[in-house]
Amino acid sequence: IKNRARIEMSSMSENIGFARIAAATFAAQLNFTLAEIEEIKVAVSEAVSNCIIHGYENRPDGTIVLNMTIEDGKLKIEVEDFGVGIEDIEAAMQPSFTTSEERMGLGLVFINSFMNEMEIISTPGEGTLVRMVK
Ligand code: ATP
Ligand code: MG
Repeated sequence: IKNRARIEMSSMSENIGFARIAAATFAAQLNFTLAEIEEIKVAVSEAVSNCIIHGYENRPDGTIVLNMTIEDGKLKIEVEDFGVGIEDIEAAMQPSFTTSEERMGLGLVFINSFMNEMEIISTPGEGTLVRMVK
């Protein structure tokens, strides 16, 4: 059996908290530890923040899609935006790489370390999809 949930939201920072609680609640169907649920929350917040800050350059009228599935005891989460996209995905994944001066460049590093699998699909000018599995 497969369970799935899809949430479409505006690119507003108010929705970061909403997305992380939604993901934690959905994930609670599996036997994750509290520490693992915490990791999922951080990964989802980082991905949604990136859509807002980078994908839509802080414009509030963008669309972010949070797609979640549970199948074969695994949680799959996709966070997608239809914003500027990423030029060089490999570079973006490096610790400390950031295109915005005042940031740490650690969001993708956290996602990669907190989730078991992670994949980024992105096309400049079309958008970005971050897929993660735990
Ligand atoms: P931090 O997450 O520590 O605040 P950051 O957001 O710059 O800093 P990452 O989350 O690791 O660091 O992202 C690295 C870089 O990848 C970003 O600076 C940005 O250039 C690019 N990036 C990440 N997500 C997106 C996205 N959804 N759309 C466009 N560019 C993105
Ligand atoms: Mg980030």
